[in-house]
Amino acid sequence: MQRHRARRLHYDFRLEIDGVLASWAVPKGPTLDPGVRRAAIHVEDHPLEYFDFEGVIPAGEYGGGDVIVWDLGSWEPHGTDDPGAAVAAGELHVDLHGEKLRGRFVLIRTGRGRSAGGGGGGAGGDGGKEQWLLLHKHDDDAIEGWDPEDHPRSVLSGRTNDEVRADPYRQWRSGLPADQASQPVRRSAASPQAAGPGAGDPEAAGPGAAGSARRHIDPAREAELLALDTLGSGGMWEVFGRQLRVTNLDKVLFPPLPGEEPVTKRDLLRYSATVAPLLVSYLAGRALNMHRFPNGAGSPGFWHKELPSHAPKWLPRWDNPEAKAGESRTYLVVEEPAALLWAANFGAIEWHGWTSRVDRPDLPDYALIDLDPGEGTSWEDLLILARLHRTALDHLGVRARAKVTGRRGMQIWIPIERGPTFEATRGWVEQLSRTVGAVVPELVSWKWNVTERGGRARLDYTQNVRNKTLVAPYSPRPAPGAPVSAPIDWEELDDPDLRPDAFTIRSVGSRIAERGDLFDPVLDHDQRLPPLA
Ligand code: MN
Repeated sequence: MQRHRARRLHYDFRLEIDGVLASWAVPKGPTLDPGVRRAAIHVEDHPLEYFDFEGVIPAGEYGGGDVIVWDLGSWEPHGTDDPGAAVAAGELHVDLHGEKLRGRFVLIRTGRGRSAGGGGGGAGGDGGKEQWLLLHKHDDDAIEGWDPEDHPRSVLSGRTNDEVRADPYRQWRSGLPADQASQPVRRSAASPQAAGPGAGDPEAAGPGAAGSARRHIDPAREAELLALDTLGSGGMWEVFGRQLRVTNLDKVLFPPLPGEEPVTKRDLLRYSATVAPLLVSYLAGRALNMHRFPNGAGSPGFWHKELPSHAPKWLPRWDNPEAKAGESRTYLVVEEPAALLWAANFGAIEWHGWTSRVDRPDLPDYALIDLDPGEGTSWEDLLILARLHRTALDHLGVRARAKVTGRRGMQIWIPIERGPTFEATRGWVEQLSRTVGAVVPELVSWKWNVTERGGRARLDYTQNVRNKTLVAPYSPRPAPGAPVSAPIDWEELDDPDLRPDAFTIRSVGSRIAERGDLFDPVLDHDQRLPPLA
């Protein structure tokens, strides 16, 4: 499902059927509300290569405008094993397992349009397209009043249509063959905000910080990293006691920051090897949700939760005994450093561990506060919210740590002794954040509707749910220069140079060497959340 702003805004609902993308343009977008029927215009089939396209289509070309991948997932036909025939017959029932859209939808043909003009961006003039309706059945996934415009971000990049239009990574050239039509957008290397990799990192900028970026590395690792450097474009790499087949080592995975070299897969693997022992502390015993970007951070990514069947036998894994509909069955568990390197080589540049452990997936051992900036939230505003939470947690005597996300936001992780349910933990975080938010109502909105939010920040307590994850500490993020989600000291909230995206895979190593692992205190799950008055 793409959100496409062409002549008019519409959503493109696409199902892979018989080797193509059967497509409907839905002007008002899909909804989970079973009481609402949405008009859908059956438009021409699209090539499979288009399903994950996100970027811009040049003005004047078919569908000229901007496109995000609004939702993605698998689906099954219901009541037929020939969905192509069902479409031809004018009625198709499907079960969707998307990030946003779930449950049973019905597509039903109602007639032919009077004239051309499919949901915007259509070529038009072909004598009218089929009119259909899209609706959601009454089932467990139905939600009354659900509005797609309340969920405006791409499931791949987290970006909005506005953000993609302002800084597109790809453009679609419909004149080219489908497998070449998605073209990178040439990016200027001489951007004015050339801040450099150490900007915002007081340690990297301080005296003595210019030493080897590798000095924190265990000497035993040096030989393995040297071996990685001497591999050609791929081969067998012996690392952390495992034989790993690595591929495409010179492929660019992250576009460069101004004045820097692009970040290759070899760079990512080298970084992953340096932080893998730390990551094992945070990820062992937890299912790993991998956010894969097999074609690099400039292209769309995919949530990969299921460990593929071709994965090496030695990889530690967890078979989820109570996998819910649409949930994966077998997860990777990073019990040893080499498992993280396998994931990185697999294209997983973002690492998301569950907040519950596999022996009790229903019980969290973290409470999470997600400071989610709105369009109108400045970094200063976000710092105000973070400082207020710092004060509140200090007042309550609760041990917690903060980290920047590597994008625009910040998160606070609170380790807890296992016991309370996700619901109880979520309720506690909500109460705390509502108390904090009441101090600065002009900065915070509790509305889910993005328009009513008015660009304000959200204190997103809803992350405290089974199989909802935040990015792990030290995980790279899909953005130029490979920023990482870096833990910070509480005092750094008062540092005017702190930036949410200033630490990259090239600079965070020296920071770890200087400061140690600032997130380490969240590894002790020995505290209980105190009652809030
Ligand atoms: Mn479209």
